[in-house]
Amino acid sequence: MPQGFIVKALSGYYYVLPEGANIREIDTITCRARGVFKKKNISPLVGDQVMYELTENGEGTVTEILPRTSELIRPPISNVNLVVLVFAVTEPVLNLQLLDKFLVHIESTGLDVLLCFTKHDLLAENEEAGSGQLTVAEFDQIRKLYEEIGYAIVTTSSKMHNGIGAVQDALKDRLSVFAGQSGVGKSSLLNEMIRGIDLETNAISQRLGRGKHTTRHVELLPLESGGYVADTPGFSQLDFMELEAEQLGSCFKEFVPLAEECRFRGCLHQHEPNCKVREAVEEGRVAASRYDHYLLFLTEMKERKRRY
Ligand code: GDP
Ligand code: ZN
Repeated sequence: MPQGFIVKALSGYYYVLPEGANIREIDTITCRARGVFKKKNISPLVGDQVMYELTENGEGTVTEILPRTSELIRPPISNVNLVVLVFAVTEPVLNLQLLDKFLVHIESTGLDVLLCFTKHDLLAENEEAGSGQLTVAEFDQIRKLYEEIGYAIVTTSSKMHNGIGAVQDALKDRLSVFAGQSGVGKSSLLNEMIRGIDLETNAISQRLGRGKHTTRHVELLPLESGGYVADTPGFSQLDFMELEAEQLGSCFKEFVPLAEECRFRGCLHQHEPNCKVREAVEEGRVAASRYDHYLLFLTEMKERKRRY
């Protein structure tokens, strides 16, 4: 039985690329799922490696789903192994609290992250009194903070066509999903990266007076350098439903080696004596902004628990 890869799902049909085939050279095989899946209450997902059978009409049936390495709910995609977290340097204002919240969510899934800062062309060269606009130097500090934590970072400008190659390199041979607020430039970036596609950007959808991503299927877009990226962004729901307070610290990457040295196992790094995380904050080895956000999220999580 042949093996393949589901690149698209739409109203009960799965579009399967035969193993080893090039998506630019052949058509995908339109498949239905075998009835037994429904009985077991499982369904194939975009991203699945599957076994399939050809039927007489040139279509096919998915007969087996191979083990998944990961499974996202929104968008419903399996085997994603990289999340491209997109934040604009401005427009919307770069909100580090929201950035850290996204990072916590992604860290909690165990997936790799690429941090992508867009709209670099909108940074101010020099401080203009009272403008409040982020300058190149201020942004470099922020970039350095996340670099030192250990995140892979690219800076782009879709407008000036800058940094696109670096994103393409980072996504090579991966199955990626974009994440980030609306308006940060995700669609613009995808349009720059993938020739021949034309995703609706917010500028257009606002002009037409309709929101984008209303009724959308999920599709994987092939990258020229190899690899795929989902056409629908993920991680839009950012509540802390699934995380326990004790797990939050492990989603702050730079806390992890420190926490091992805290006096108490399960230290929440609040008021516990001999807390190595707090010590590092006091000595400036961990950024105060990161620790503040940690405490804030911890409070949010506890309040949420109380309400439910
Ligand atoms: P999405 O909602 O994250 O997909 O964001 P869009 O790609 O729709 O972009 C939102 C707005 O930002 C649009 O008006 C884009 O033209 C604009 N934009 C996107 N990338 C850039 C960039 O690199 N520089 C500038 N100046 N504007 C950008
Ligand atoms: Zn501690």
